[in-house]
Amino acid sequence: MTHPTVAAAQDLAPIFAGRAAKWDATRTYCWDNIADLVDARIMGMSIPKSLGGLGASYFDVIQVVEEVAKACTLTARIVVEGNLGGISAVMAYGSPEQKAFCAPIVLAGDKPAICITEPDAGSAATELQTTAQKRGNTYVINGRKHWITGGGVSKLHLVFARVLNEAGHDLGIGGFIVHVDPKAGITPDGFKVTGREKTMGLCGMPEAELRFENLVIDEKWALIPPSGFRHGFADLMNAYNSQRVGAGAIAMGVAAGAYERAKAYLLRREQFGRPLAEFQGLQWMVADMDTQIHAARLMLHDAAQSLGPKGSQFPDMIKAARAKLFASEMAIKVVDDALQMFGARGYGDKEPLERMYRDVRMFTIGGGTAQILRTQIAGSVLGIKTPQTRDGDATAPLAQLHAAE
Ligand SMILES: Cc1cc2nc3c(=O)[nH]c(=O)nc-3n(C[C@H](O)[C@H](O)[C@H](O)COP(=O)(O)OP(=O)(O)OC[C@H]3O[C@@H](n4cnc5c(N)ncnc54)[C@H](O)[C@@H]3O)c2cc1C
Repeated sequence: MTHPTVAAAQDLAPIFAGRAAKWDATRTYCWDNIADLVDARIMGMSIPKSLGGLGASYFDVIQVVEEVAKACTLTARIVVEGNLGGISAVMAYGSPEQKAFCAPIVLAGDKPAICITEPDAGSAATELQTTAQKRGNTYVINGRKHWITGGGVSKLHLVFARVLNEAGHDLGIGGFIVHVDPKAGITPDGFKVTGREKTMGLCGMPEAELRFENLVIDEKWALIPPSGFRHGFADLMNAYNSQRVGAGAIAMGVAAGAYERAKAYLLRREQFGRPLAEFQGLQWMVADMDTQIHAARLMLHDAAQSLGPKGSQFPDMIKAARAKLFASEMAIKVVDDALQMFGARGYGDKEPLERMYRDVRMFTIGGGTAQILRTQIAGSVLGIKTPQTRDGDATAPLAQLHAAE
């Protein structure tokens, strides 16, 4: 049975579609849409009922994501990050206090920011240099992150850092929950938003640079996965598999939205005295778009309903990687073809196609590039753990990701 929030998302879609150009042109965050998502109980719908959420499954969430993404890519990203990724890591690994603290913030409309990437640690995420050093009952965080989605608007941050003990010995990688809410006067010393990228698409979403300078947080906000810090990165990346499926669902939803618009246009626009829909050159494009979207949807649904090994609460890593890889590359092609079908209108801003085209381009980069996902899939199907660093350092991304198995 379809979750009731899917129908709510379908009702909201025309409203979101009507506002989407505004966020893009003004590069502003879609607070109005977030209020609607909160009212519809879509924000935090994956949070357990005992903590005020709806206890919805990842499968439920990605069906909502598809409907929202057809209308507004920006808002769909907020649905994903308000249900999957950071918040699902807290719900899986967090202490009762962490869960009880984070749940109401997300339910009230916050999209937690995941802070992994650094200037010298992109695909090679395990090379991150941000440190969290134990000092008494606290951790002192120092470092710099960039391309942090929602930096400057998010209240909750899950900061990935290299954990050092009091003596400075490296214990592994851990996550740290950092709460920031300037409107409520919560601006921790040492937490700074130092820049924002100017992006080609998804312009309403801040992609921020963050700096941590002797940021002191209580030890109770360390998110310690079951295997401790030593394999903490692998556990935290397992949680990220849910967000990866979500990202694929956004891409697929944008493709489906572009496809539906293109189909309607082909039936209404006439050239040579006939509707465009009668030309075989375009019909075959439609058939390919339809087939590709259907295949992506099936892969995403399968991934969302899968579970990783060893009692994992998160989707299977390879199913998630395959589905995101396929959906993100498919969506770029499908949106491009839809734009083509609109001719000059598609290139102009009276139609949303040019915005969708700019928006969808990011999904083969953010959240694991297409190349890194291929490396992951190939490693799994061939059973080969190939270190990506020249010296075969075990901290290479693939080796780390396999440690999750
Ligand atoms: C819109 C957007 C939002 C983002 N949001 C977040 C966020 O919220 N939090 C966060 O932590 N990060 C975020 N990121 C960062 C994202 O995760 C990184 O961009 C991504 O991991 C790639 O890192 P990089 O950009 O440094 O590219 P690099 O790692 O420098 O890679 C450059 C190119 O080389 C390829 N490459 C690298 N290594 C290999 C290899 N071993 N084999 C084959 N090819 C390789 C890559 O695929 C890519 O094509 C976001 C990025 C974007 C664009």
